[in-house]
Amino acid sequence: MRRLADLPLGWKLHGAFALVVLILLALSGVALETVAANQREAAAVERTERVIGQANAALSSLVDMETGFRGYLIAGQSDYLEPYTSGRTRFELQMARLIRETADDPAQVARWQEIERGAMAWEAQTVEPAIAQRRTAGPDAPIPPDVVARIRDGDGKAQFDRVRLLFDQAIADQQATLAARTGEAADANARLRTTLAVGSALGVLLALALAAALSRDVVRAVGQLAAAAGRVAGGHLDERVGLRRGDEIGRAAAAVDRMADELRQLIGERDRILASVGDGIVRLDAEGGVQFANAAAARMLGYEVDELIGQPFWEVVQRGSEGVFWRRDGTTFQVELTSAPVLEGERVVGAVVDFRDVSEREQLRAEQVARTGAEVALRERNDVLAAVSHDLKTPLTSVRGISQLLARRLTIGDPPTREEVLEWAARIQDASARMTRLLDDLLDASRLQAGHALDLRPVPTDLAELAARLASECQRQSSAHNVRVECTAKRAIGYWDSARLERVVANLLSNAVKYSPDGGEVVVRVRSEDVGDRAWAVLSILDHGVGIPAADLPHLFEPYFRAGNVAGAIPGHGLGLAGARRIVEQHGGAIDVESVEGFGSTFTVRLPMDASAVPATAA
Ligand code: ADP
Repeated sequence: MRRLADLPLGWKLHGAFALVVLILLALSGVALETVAANQREAAAVERTERVIGQANAALSSLVDMETGFRGYLIAGQSDYLEPYTSGRTRFELQMARLIRETADDPAQVARWQEIERGAMAWEAQTVEPAIAQRRTAGPDAPIPPDVVARIRDGDGKAQFDRVRLLFDQAIADQQATLAARTGEAADANARLRTTLAVGSALGVLLALALAAALSRDVVRAVGQLAAAAGRVAGGHLDERVGLRRGDEIGRAAAAVDRMADELRQLIGERDRILASVGDGIVRLDAEGGVQFANAAAARMLGYEVDELIGQPFWEVVQRGSEGVFWRRDGTTFQVELTSAPVLEGERVVGAVVDFRDVSEREQLRAEQVARTGAEVALRERNDVLAAVSHDLKTPLTSVRGISQLLARRLTIGDPPTREEVLEWAARIQDASARMTRLLDDLLDASRLQAGHALDLRPVPTDLAELAARLASECQRQSSAHNVRVECTAKRAIGYWDSARLERVVANLLSNAVKYSPDGGEVVVRVRSEDVGDRAWAVLSILDHGVGIPAADLPHLFEPYFRAGNVAGAIPGHGLGLAGARRIVEQHGGAIDVESVEGFGSTFTVRLPMDASAVPATAA
């Protein structure tokens, strides 16, 4: 036998409704049947009433006949017979109607026929002989005494009384039948009321019982299913509905349980994956509270996973600069992170943050950069050494050439003239001065690189004389250029480190020549200038050479910097200007440049002429 829980829901619901409908139909059937019976009873009652009425009318006609008959006997006038004859006609008609009316009741019909026969016998044996006798006696004669006797107490009266008695009995019987039928109709009504009341009560009780059974069977099960599904949805993945039923609810419950199994498996899988990845992964709600954190996140931050849940993530981990996370113990680590919003439709409902500790990597990178920097520095130094060696070769070659020339001339007995010797000596001096300057530049550069200031040795120095001397030295070295000096200074004497100042001017001059490869004019100007209560000596060196690209101008005085238009094309080491600026600035002065690429450059040096501006020995 199948349990109720195993029957399909449709069967159960349809069955319950069908049962209720059947009860209602049965009740209606009973009511209809009772109403029909009542109607039949009512028709029978009506007919009985009609029969009683007609019986009474026939009896009344019989009485009229007897009254007319007596009147005629007394009066002897034929007029007095009229009630008798009309009563007789009515009586016959009424008796025929009574017989028709009760034709379905043979006993009743027999009774009416007996009455009819009695009346006929009274008429034939009593009435008609008496009327004949009276007619024979004539209207004015007194009533014959035997007629009187027959009417008063003879057989005639007895005959009539018997007919009348039969009538009375028949009417009484009909009335008894009427009473019985009326009682039955009332009983039937009462039965109908009872049947309806009991039937309705039974129907209601049955409907309630069905509702209770269905409710226990269906509603409770559905509630159980909904509650378990709600708990699973709320994250209690071990919850199961556990309904063992064969109907649709049972199947839905089994499906929910299967879904919960799969969900638990999926989430387990997800958690295992998230636990095994090295990156920290946290899921934040819209306010930044931690909803989920994987093991790596907790490990990196120094918390247990449970301790992180609900914490305001950014406040906990990011207390200062971006890119740095704080651990629970107050230490920090460099972090690289990505944050992706979690969307529901268009609404941002949270974020997933993926982060990793990059301290080690950054450390390695910094070491790499330092290594690379050191390598670059080494390479630059090698480049500089190569460039300086190259620069040294030129004056050395010139000294060697002069000495070889001198030796050959002396060997072949053609000693040089005094002028020649003086010129060669000047060239040797120039070369050694250039070499000295070059080596001094190098020394200064390495001092500066080591973080030491220059050790200035200020002496009274005439900038105009210094510039003129170096310009003529420059002119001697390059016949392709025209080096011109314009001096407008009334006084250009300052308290400066003349050897270093010489290097500054020589550098600017050699640059002007070197970076004007096609020759041309180089102008050296020396002037003085008063700004406020201070006097300045101003030297500018102008050329019409390659000029300097605008983008390179800001870096021009940086050590080892060479402009893009000359690097690789014209030899150099990028030390001259950096050293010059250092020297000029340490004198309290300034050096700057104006240049247009392809048109030439003007370098200007300003030096204070008052001795107080120069520190005797720089710090
Ligand atoms: P070097 O001349 O040995 O390269 P410097 O320090 O003297 O080093 O000059 C730095 C750079 O400035 C040069 O490489 C060059 O690009 C630029 N420069 C200096 N003077 C001139 C000039 N007169 N005309 C064009 N460029 C110049």
